[in-house]
Amino acid sequence: MRQFTTIAEARGFLDGERCAGRSVGLVPTMGALHAGHASLVRRAAADNETVAITIFVNPLQFGPNEDFDSYPRTLEADLALAETEGATVAITPTVKEMYPDRPVRTNVAVAGITAPMEGARRPGHFDGVSTVVTKLFNIAGPCHAYFGEKDWQQLAVISRMVRDLSFPVTIVPCPTVREADGLAMSSRNVYLTEDERAAAPSLHRALTAGVEAIERGERDPKKVTAIVRSLIDPIADVDYVEVVDAATLEDVVPLAGVLRLLVAARFGKARLIDNVGVTVR
Ligand code: AMP
Repeated sequence: MRQFTTIAEARGFLDGERCAGRSVGLVPTMGALHAGHASLVRRAAADNETVAITIFVNPLQFGPNEDFDSYPRTLEADLALAETEGATVAITPTVKEMYPDRPVRTNVAVAGITAPMEGARRPGHFDGVSTVVTKLFNIAGPCHAYFGEKDWQQLAVISRMVRDLSFPVTIVPCPTVREADGLAMSSRNVYLTEDERAAAPSLHRALTAGVEAIERGERDPKKVTAIVRSLIDPIADVDYVEVVDAATLEDVVPLAGVLRLLVAARFGKARLIDNVGVTVR
């Protein structure tokens, strides 16, 4: 696996790969890799000859009171895991390399989809995400880019941005990888105490019960979200529970079409998010 820390080297190498007829798979991450990230790299390796993982904790997407400084950083282990799973390139720029001129004056903002849920609770978060992903796409060039459904709203925002701005990039959504008890894998799960870890799978159980209610015929979103809320362990501080159109993230009343149930809740220091899909035919 080749490792590049500068934009120029990474861009030059990937341009060369395409010139040689090799397709490029891109897996953007913030590191602290786990089995969820590994599944993205494996999928990228199954689809492409060249697989570039980016590892960059992006300051622009963290709020002033969020965990940018304490976010887990495990670069050596990340590089080993990425290579084992089939990455051929690791792009690991410094903050200075990505943002030489601070403050950053150019911002990519996607309207609408970013308004509810994470966008409402984390002002500026999605601008930070869409701006860094734009930079990564500009560095990588034409590619397939692999994103986890775990961050559903992020996936919706990036997919829309790619269509709106005609990036030469195909977005490939990948299913959420879970622990055996249903907890979605997350780099932030390391913040959980033993009691919080035991309570955290209630998020996925509650979402599953919401899906079952819809499948039984419930069409009132308020009733569905009440069921989900009632099943989340009381140790958690629930931030939101929503059931919305899967692509636009807009409310649908009565429930119909391709839907997504999404939840965010704080378990002590860890703010966890999760989501599941359901279709009403
Ligand atoms: P992050 O490092 O948290 O920014 O995540 C990098 C990529 O991995 C994003 O596309 C995430 O959606 C994806 N990802 C994170 N956790 C999971 C998971 N449990 N299953 C599948 N993909 C994931």
